[in-house]
Amino acid sequence: MSQPTVEQLREQVRAPVITAGDAGYDEGRAVHNGMFDRRPKVIVRPEQVADVVAAVNFARDAGLDLSVKGGGHSAPGFGTNDGGMVIDLSLMRHVHVDPRARTARAGGGATLGDFNYATHAYGLATTGGIVSTTGVAGLTLGGGIGYLTRGYGLSIDNLISADVVTADGRILTASGQENADLFWALRGGGGNFGVVTSFEFQLHPVKDVYVGLFFYELDAAGDLLRFFREFIKDAPEEYGGFPAFQIAPPLEFIPAERHGDTFCAAVVHWAGPLDQGENAMKPFRDLAPVVAEMVGPMPYPALNAAFDPIFPKGIRSYWKGSFVKELSDAAIEQHLNHGPKVPEVSATMHLYPINGAVHRVGADETAFAYRDSTFAMVIVCAWQDSALDQQRIQWVRDYYQALAPYSEPGGYINFMADDDEARVHDNYRGKFERLTQIKKAYDPGNLFHINQNIPPAR
Ligand SMILES: Cc1cc2nc3c(=O)[nH]c(=O)nc-3n(C[C@H](O)[C@H](O)[C@H](O)COP(=O)(O)OP(=O)(O)OC[C@H]3O[C@@H](n4cnc5c(N)ncnc54)[C@H](O)[C@@H]3O)c2cc1C
Repeated sequence: MSQPTVEQLREQVRAPVITAGDAGYDEGRAVHNGMFDRRPKVIVRPEQVADVVAAVNFARDAGLDLSVKGGGHSAPGFGTNDGGMVIDLSLMRHVHVDPRARTARAGGGATLGDFNYATHAYGLATTGGIVSTTGVAGLTLGGGIGYLTRGYGLSIDNLISADVVTADGRILTASGQENADLFWALRGGGGNFGVVTSFEFQLHPVKDVYVGLFFYELDAAGDLLRFFREFIKDAPEEYGGFPAFQIAPPLEFIPAERHGDTFCAAVVHWAGPLDQGENAMKPFRDLAPVVAEMVGPMPYPALNAAFDPIFPKGIRSYWKGSFVKELSDAAIEQHLNHGPKVPEVSATMHLYPINGAVHRVGADETAFAYRDSTFAMVIVCAWQDSALDQQRIQWVRDYYQALAPYSEPGGYINFMADDDEARVHDNYRGKFERLTQIKKAYDPGNLFHINQNIPPAR
């Protein structure tokens, strides 16, 4: 059988089909991480599910490598490739809210900003990440960690159903009732099982939240980390947030003479009644002298966009992450060695708490492999100048290596770098075998392989 041509694909779909030289080619091939400058053979920008079916069938029959791009944020640049096809879902970002059922359905290319904007109008929200340009799709398929995690669980714990186009071009719904094995695998198994064209989420009454951003001198870092470790274990679940190392950006609330200095910081989020917010910040004011703070109520979507300016599209970046079961004093010592060397305003270490509602979901209920951890640690550096690549990557690697003896071998699949392939088994841990079986059932030819790849069982 002869292979299908791009011209035939153009005739089949209503969606834009873009090749080198066409308008939109550079936008379609670009991903958030500027280190990946790839040139696919063809880019399809589906407007509806039928376009996705045609594109999947085409990539499979033409034997092309296939990237599925949701928000394009994956650190290893999975949303693009050289010489293959990109299904760029950025035209499928509609979000429909059902306020009575308190649910929302988001298109496979919606960003967290799209999602929060739509649900906030109804005074509702669900767990998402901390930067608004991140895709709902990739974030959710890996698990989904954010400010609301302690109160409402991971994003996957709020997923009710997903519509999926599988490698053979079928359109399936995955939920607790239908294709339950697929639904299990989608919740933590990443983009391995098909193109998710829409996600249905449970929402919660969260509108405005109380937020505190506290900067402390570096000599308080040990106190901050030890305090956070104990405090967040059983703090009220309205609390979210994380400790960090951070170079002060030129923001008004930070004294001008301290801009560019390195601090340890606490990002504190309170989703309870706003009139309790000020009191909720007190423990963070008391733990050490505060050099600068920004405290007050804000709309939940505004908090979710607060870090956007320091992670603009196209910035180069490198990531490492691990789960942490116990943040020991010895581990904190290593944080004190490496955190203060943070080299850029857009570089940091965050420790996201994994407890509360996440621990109430059974370990085997989803493919997310580390519900028994207490923190998800991420070390990330982003920078503009390619001449700095090696130096910046080295800071992340050194920090990560120093913490490795005190961390789990596996990490959150959404915090992996392009050189983390060897960690795939550890990342999926006890879920790996079952995931390979489900992969075999839904994608035996491994069409969806540009991801934290799960090979089909033999
Ligand atoms: C600045 C920044 C901040 C972040 N903050 C957080 C955070 O707070 N919490 C958190 O949990 N994570 C966070 N992340 C990590 C983020 O979850 C991952 O990078 C995630 O993979 C991004 O999803 P995406 O859709 O934007 O990326 P993409 O690169 O488009 O996709 C990521 C993976 O998912 C697959 N995929 C994408 N869309 C679909 C789809 N519709 N169907 C099937 N597969 C699909 C892709 O093929 C790829 O393998 C952050 C990342 C960045 C860059």
